[in-house]
Amino acid sequence: MPQKLIDQSSLGHWVAALIAEHKVYGVQAKADRFAFDALTEADDLRLDHDVTILPPKKYFHPPQEILLQFDREAMTFESVFHAEPFILLGVHPYDMAAISQLDKVFSMDHRDRHYLARREAATIVVCDVQTASPEVFAGCMGHATMEGQSGHDMLLTLLDDGRYLVDPVSAKGEALMGPLAHAPEADQAALQARKRVWDRNRRQLQKNKLKMKPSELPGLLAGSYDHPVWEERAELCYSCGSCNLVCPTCYCFDLRDELNWDLRTGRRLREWDGCMLRGFAAVAGGHNFRARRADRYRHRYFRKGKYTWEAYGEIACVGCGRCISACTANIANPVEVFNRLLEER
Ligand code: SF4
Ligand code: SF4
Repeated sequence: MPQKLIDQSSLGHWVAALIAEHKVYGVQAKADRFAFDALTEADDLRLDHDVTILPPKKYFHPPQEILLQFDREAMTFESVFHAEPFILLGVHPYDMAAISQLDKVFSMDHRDRHYLARREAATIVVCDVQTASPEVFAGCMGHATMEGQSGHDMLLTLLDDGRYLVDPVSAKGEALMGPLAHAPEADQAALQARKRVWDRNRRQLQKNKLKMKPSELPGLLAGSYDHPVWEERAELCYSCGSCNLVCPTCYCFDLRDELNWDLRTGRRLREWDGCMLRGFAAVAGGHNFRARRADRYRHRYFRKGKYTWEAYGEIACVGCGRCISACTANIANPVEVFNRLLEER
């Protein structure tokens, strides 16, 4: 599909036209942070954001959703779907990598129709990172750019001359082009300029430096089950679950039924859960498989660096750095933990 070159004002007109015709969510400034939200003005879109508070997974796997409505007396239930078509603007490559992991997880074994319906309804426009966040290490995890990655529909890259290279990579992406289809085609010089942006981002998105390849993590963790780091750091942990909730690759959830006042009809809810919360591994009979904070703390790292690798061939950390800044106790930095395990193995 032809790649195009556009200036900033054409980008603004294009975004305004998208808003006029579609449901669009995009990155916007919220006080001194950034967040994905419904976009109603093209000028509100910020593609220079460093990182959003919550990852875009919230549009596919929402914090709370109704899965079905039921009637206990009539013994009936009806699935509830919210899958209106929408456009997601400004997703960073590391968050796209996380969405691709969720695509795998939610289509393995038991296909999750709710997640997959929303995924199908989405058109995702990725934007190469323009501002590195203070904690990012996507460059160490192989997710600084979209090179070799897929799942998105269009890629926008701000070149050093101030123009955007627009790269539609799917039929959905091509359908979004509209007036951009008449823009000048990107020449070899523009493609080289994009490659320079990618090379720079691979270097710059390493504010924390992992001293090993991500593929070495499963082996490192296998020999670190009894390392003192788990007990030491867990001493400071509040079990607040923030590191889970902001993570783009965390997908655990809880299910509960909520009855109406008639005690007959109700709904089944799915809500985010997190392995750092005390009740996460509690089961009937009062037993808790990870009642100790140190066990929960260790589990999170094993889950990220070993268990998901064994289950579906992915390291469940894309290096966004959100858990680092979300942790009030300042103990959630995966790079600090993994580097220490490496140095003391
Ligand atoms: S573990 Fe932390 S740095 Fe890694 S993807 Fe999750 S939130 Fe981002
Ligand atoms: S954010 Fe920090 S304090 Fe809260 S559960 Fe995670 S590691 Fe513990």
